[in-house]
Amino acid sequence: MAAGNPVAVVTGGGRGIGAGISTALARHGFDAVIGWTSDEDSAVKTAARIGETTSARTLLVRGDVADEQTSKDLAAAALAEFGRLDCWVNNAGYMAAGSILELTGDQVRRCFEINLLGTFYGIQSAAAAMGEAGGRIVNISSEAGIRAWPLYGAYAPSKFAQIGLGQVAALELGRRGITVNTVCPGIIETDMVLDKWAAESAVTQTPVADIRAAVTAETLTGALCTPEDVGDAVAWLASASAGSVTGQSICVNAGVTLH
Ligand code: NAD
Repeated sequence: MAAGNPVAVVTGGGRGIGAGISTALARHGFDAVIGWTSDEDSAVKTAARIGETTSARTLLVRGDVADEQTSKDLAAAALAEFGRLDCWVNNAGYMAAGSILELTGDQVRRCFEINLLGTFYGIQSAAAAMGEAGGRIVNISSEAGIRAWPLYGAYAPSKFAQIGLGQVAALELGRRGITVNTVCPGIIETDMVLDKWAAESAVTQTPVADIRAAVTAETLTGALCTPEDVGDAVAWLASASAGSVTGQSICVNAGVTLH
């Protein structure tokens, strides 16, 4: 076993759900490499908050996950700065919403480049860097990866595919001591969802508050999940307690889907 705290890479770990994951892993004793691409302020704030509230060390690394080199840079940064890699979370994601009649090929391509190819490169780099020691890979898909929604003709297929990729990786990497699981969040009020609600409101003339209320009414708990809820699920999957859990898709969606 390598010396020092366990180390995690979290792509898109600076804001939204990714910030919830980085923070939860830090609370559970992980040092973290936080990937970011366009929102440096959020990543800096998340790292500062982790520094104020835990003893975890953080490192910010910029790059587009659709570029193969980014995953290599993230893995190399973990090994160079912290000397080990124990957990990799493919969280970075992109949504393009619109009817199939309106979505463009470029929007579909970008969803697949970031959500699927980015995860693919992440799994490759994580497995190479973890080596013989094994580790944990967690992919953040979506409730939209297990059921269809209107207007998700670009996003949902990429999220379905992410689950399939995770299952193949679990099959191939299990004997190397690497577990691969997928977390499927329900609707969580991040920038991604606020943008989507604003667009939906403009099209349907439904106030955002009414859209929010309708989505909340679908939950079994009467409350939307939070980035912290997803972070806690990832922290458990990254822990020693979850060593026998692999190849699974776990919904953190307040029971909106039952399976
Ligand atoms: P967000 O837009 O707030 O954050 C997305 C993160 O991914 C940001 O940090 C962004 O910088 C990063 N990112 C985007 N494109 C990137 C790229 N090409 N390279 C590197 N980083 C990139 O969204 P969020 O809601 O926090 O989403 C996080 C993950 O959770 C995504 O995979 C998303 O699909 C998934 N998800 C979100 C919800 C939700 O309701 N918010 C529900 C289900 C699944």
